[in-house]
Formats: sequence, C-alpha cells, structure tokens
Amino acid sequence: MSKIDFTGRVAIVTGAGAGLGKDYALELARRGAKVVVNDLGSARDGGGADAAVADLVVEEIRSAGGEAVANYDSVSTPTGGTNIVNTALEAFGKLDILVNNAGILRDKSLSKMDEDSWDAVLEVHLKGTYCVTRPAFLHMRENGYGRIVMTSSVSGLLGNFGQSNYGAAKMGIAGLANVLKLEGAKYNVKVNVLLPSAGTRMTQDLMAPEMFEKFGVEWVTPAVMYLCSEECQDTGAYINAFAGYYSRSAVITGQGAAFAELPSAEDIMGSWDRIMNLEGGAYHEDLTKMVTEAVTFLMTAAQK
Ligand code: NAD
Repeated sequence: MSKIDFTGRVAIVTGAGAGLGKDYALELARRGAKVVVNDLGSARDGGGADAAVADLVVEEIRSAGGEAVANYDSVSTPTGGTNIVNTALEAFGKLDILVNNAGILRDKSLSKMDEDSWDAVLEVHLKGTYCVTRPAFLHMRENGYGRIVMTSSVSGLLGNFGQSNYGAAKMGIAGLANVLKLEGAKYNVKVNVLLPSAGTRMTQDLMAPEMFEKFGVEWVTPAVMYLCSEECQDTGAYINAFAGYYSRSAVITGQGAAFAELPSAEDIMGSWDRIMNLEGGAYHEDLTKMVTEAVTFLMTAAQK
C-alpha cells in the first residue's frame, strides 16, 4: 500500500487551533504539507477572539520540523475567506487542500431559537464554508487540482433534538458539496463531506464521560487525511468517522409508484406503502440521473 505523503502540498485547515482541526493540521504537517492554521480563537458559542490559539499550533508544527503559518480571520465574511486563501498563496505560492472545519454551537430547540443564535451558527458554518471555499476553488480550478473536505454532521443529515440552527447549517454544507462535486469534476477538484464525532469542547457536555474518552479526535484524522490525498479519487461522498468506525452515508431514492393519469389524493394514500418503500432504492450522482430514471420508470409503467 502506498504511503499518503503531502510533501509539496499546501493545505488550509479552518478552525485549526483546537479540537479536530488542530489534529488535522498537525498530521497534515507531519506528512509533509505546508499548512495554514486558521483560527479566530473564539469561545464555543462564537464569542471573543484569541490569536494565541492558532499561534500555539503553528509553534507545535514548527518545533516538530514542519512548515506552517497562522491566520486569524473569521471564516464568516468574504474578506476573511479571501485573506485565509491569500495567506496560503503568499506564504507557500499555491493551495491544494482545504479542510472547512471551523465551527461554533448555540443549541436551542426551535421554539426558543432567537434570530441571533440562528444567524451566528449559519454564518460560521454555512456562510463560512462558502466564504473560504469560493476563493480556494477558483485557485484550485486554475491549477487543475484540489481536495476539499466539508464538515457536516449527522445532526443535519439525520437530525438531533435541539440543534435546528446547527442541523440546518450542516445540511446546507452537504448541499453545497453536492453541487461543487459536479462543478469541480473536470478540474480534478474532489469535494467530500465528513460527518465526524469526537470528544472536544464542542461535545464536552453532550457526550457521556466514557464516550468522550473513547471518541478521541485522533480517530477522525485518518479519514480526513485520506480524503485530502491525491489517492482519493471519490467525490461527493458523505463519510462518517468516529472512534474507529468509518462508513458512507448517502441519499437514496426509492423505486416509487408511477401513474399514467393524474392521481387523486386517495390514489396517493392507496400507494403510500410503495411510495415510502426504500427497498431497491438507488443513489444518484446528480438530479439529471434521478429524473431520467424516474421518467423511464413512468414511461415503462404507462406502456403496461
Ligand atoms: P472545537 O470547538 O473544538 O473547535 C472549533 C474551532 O473553530 C475553535 O478553535 C474555534 O476557535 C474555531 N472557530 C470558531 N469560529 C470560527 C470562525 N468564525 N473563524 C475561524 N475559526 C473559528 O470544535 P470541534 O469539535 O473540533 O469541531 C470541528 C468541526 O467539526 C466543527 O465544524 C463541528 O461542527 C464539526 N463536528 C464536530 C463534531 C464533534 O463531535 N466534535 C460532530 C460533528 C461535527
């Protein structure tokens, strides 16, 4: 098996001052990448700022013989995103890898969700991913090479009580990846979606203590390293990674029911079991493939 080596590669990890992002930045550098350690140094809810958080990771990389520079911009503005990408271009001349990882949490059930908490979480996760990914993608497209990891969450993909802002933002990120995998395909820019779970300050009061211990960040990092590598030829995959468990999740579409004539609501009710059935369901790479398959199914049904 070939060794994954990032020598000659330049990477940005957002939110790399702590938790998962810090571990990705350290491992990318250990494997030879030149790394931009972006971190605003905020509290878990997004308040405050502390440049020392990114500086300490840069120091750790340099003292181990690696190359890294710090960036303290917030991911959540277009200027911040451009500055983060320019930090890589100015320090290292190019950009090959982007790990969108920065994140905050402001959990509340929807009934208690104020606009500030909604906006703050969407701004860092969803808008932040747009703000950094767009300038990064423009450069990668020009270069004909790129690896982008988007950080989503099962809270969005599957749902988690009390995380409506976070779940919406994380599902939005998956939607962005679904589109960018197509727009990046002919430029060799692969875009994959990570669904991690790890014991960090973000999950400290959400996980049971034994689980927190077992779910070390280092269990997520190997999957991220592979997704960042030239060896990874997949794009648009949703990858779960935690505590030694790695799997793919996907949106599949059931076979459904077809009607040659306009169905009534009662016809829909009568076919509900078939409409809801996911057995024999299929994954579609894009909407055209799904619609084409549905139209073929309709035409076949109409001929019967
Ligand atoms: P963490 O709180 O330990 O680290 C997040 C880092 O992002 C912090 O260092 C913080 O300063 C930085 N940050 C926050 N806002 C920023 C901004 N606007 N600009 C730049 N940096 C900013 O969290 P973590 O658990 O390591 O989470 C990392 C990512 O993984 C997040 O996107 C999170 O939503 C996602 N995630 C984590 C888990 C988990 O179980 N820990 C589960 C699913 C998804």
